[in-house]
Amino acid sequence: MGEFALQARRRTLFVLGALCFLSVGLLARLLDLQVFRRDFLVGKAQECISMEKTIRARRGHIYDARGRALAVNEKGYVLWIDGLALKEGLKDVGPVAVFMLAEMATWPDRATVQTYLSGQGTGNILWTRWLDPKDVEKLRKVMEVQEERLEGIRLKGGAYLEIEPRRTYPYGSLFASVIGYLHGESPPDDREVTAYTATLGIEQFYDLLLKGRDGLMRIERDAKDFRIPIGKYEEYPAHDGANITLTLDLNIQYQAQRLLAKAMKEQDVEARRGDIIVMDPRSGAILAMVTIPSFDPNQISACANDEQCKKLLFTNPAIGWTYEPGSTMKILTIAIALEEAIIRPESTFECTGEVEAAGVYFHNWNGLAHGHETMGEILLHSCNIGAATLNLRVGAGAYYPYLERLGFKEPTGVDMAGESSGLFLTPEDDGWSEASLASNAFGQGIAITPLQLLTAVSAVANGGNLLKPYVVQAIEQDGVVTATIPTLRGRVFRQETCREVTEMLAGIGAIKGEDGGPFVPGYRVAVKTGTAQIPIEGQVGYEPHRTIASTIGYAPAGDPRFLILVRIEGNSVIWGEDAALPVVRELTRYLLTYLQIPPTEEVPSGP
Ligand SMILES: [Zn+2]
Repeated sequence: MGEFALQARRRTLFVLGALCFLSVGLLARLLDLQVFRRDFLVGKAQECISMEKTIRARRGHIYDARGRALAVNEKGYVLWIDGLALKEGLKDVGPVAVFMLAEMATWPDRATVQTYLSGQGTGNILWTRWLDPKDVEKLRKVMEVQEERLEGIRLKGGAYLEIEPRRTYPYGSLFASVIGYLHGESPPDDREVTAYTATLGIEQFYDLLLKGRDGLMRIERDAKDFRIPIGKYEEYPAHDGANITLTLDLNIQYQAQRLLAKAMKEQDVEARRGDIIVMDPRSGAILAMVTIPSFDPNQISACANDEQCKKLLFTNPAIGWTYEPGSTMKILTIAIALEEAIIRPESTFECTGEVEAAGVYFHNWNGLAHGHETMGEILLHSCNIGAATLNLRVGAGAYYPYLERLGFKEPTGVDMAGESSGLFLTPEDDGWSEASLASNAFGQGIAITPLQLLTAVSAVANGGNLLKPYVVQAIEQDGVVTATIPTLRGRVFRQETCREVTEMLAGIGAIKGEDGGPFVPGYRVAVKTGTAQIPIEGQVGYEPHRTIASTIGYAPAGDPRFLILVRIEGNSVIWGEDAALPVVRELTRYLLTYLQIPPTEEVPSGP
């Protein structure tokens, strides 16, 4: 090439460069669409290509209370197939590669896979999302690498491995319902940015903070893909997402999960599912939230053929499903009656085994009359008659405002997606009667979420404060850490009332050890069991052969550091005392040790 020709070429380049810059918007869009169709585009643009490329913001990590990573980003590959290039290359890639591609296809349906592999496909198609690194290596071997770049690897025969950060959850199903997951939803022809939907839990609730803001890069390149020295280069950097530290502790979560799984496998327990929430009643911080069964957020497609699993992809049962709490509700019934001065702690009650309200006769679960009962014994015997009688004496006018103040009419406001609210009738509603008031006393005719119940009982445990439960301890954005400050939703009970109820519950704890002694030697533990009936869906009445066994416990009773709710939903009739209480006992022991809480009581020494 002569000197003149070279100058002319340079001039042309410059002009083309300027043109490129002017038409950047239009051209970039077009060019950008396709790495695959680059040859075609290169032909059109001759010497210069302007590229617009998204700089993906790094999604924030999620850590447990002690800084252990629960959700992180790993380098991953997405496999794209260019139908036309594959058709061209089929004869070169050989049967092994075709077989491998058929094996790896996860995204298109089988018919589409066949169409492409028989050379009938056109256009680019997302073939495999999240290719296993081993598969990447295999593919590289059988389909020669044509070009390798920062953003991906092009193989001969129309395969393109795009690098994409992959969200992974190192503890799999253990935190799935709390953290949620990311679901890639890239339409097959949109090559530039995969759209993610953050679903459930923290991922969904804090999506805006976690995902940050993507940046943009505009580059001009010559046909050989080198950046033109005089070309424009613009970069709008990405703003990375915030890192989140949870209040949940991996150790407590793991223990809760282990103990629940163990209890659900016990001989006499035919369990359908179960959950545990552990909360710090002083702040509302949730220390553990476990649900069994769960799902693996790294492999949500594994849920496809399992109806129960599919439901869990969109709901965390501990906050999203309501149930009729049964006898654990009596903690609140007693507290309300004390607060309203209907009773005093030393009041007594004559239990005849029957009480009538609005023409409905109520009995105890075993049909027994307890005779002379203290208020503590109403709780200990889990006496429906005593509880119903208290509610009838408190009266609807005073009672229902408490249910509102305890937060049963609204979601608790916990910072996770998918929370539900409670449901109960009040005197203004059709269908309400004094019988509703009586049955509410022992946890029937009222549907609330486990978290709502635990938050309300937490107000008894902590001296009367209804708090907003939360799972995020701190958010780190641009190096600045913002810690969560507990939120007081309202005062419900006087301290005196709370102390009195706690005394009664600690009285139960004092005899609920394996040997009939203290629940946990050396400590006072407040305990209440419950066996909840399950309403028949869409009908009046309860399932006759199935119950939810539950137990609430908190310790140390005078100044509780944690509050536990265990629920096991049976496939048969199972009792709170048999199925759930032992889990609370073991978990309480673990927590007292783990949180290094010194004993408050003398432990009787040996014989
Ligand atoms: Zn009774």
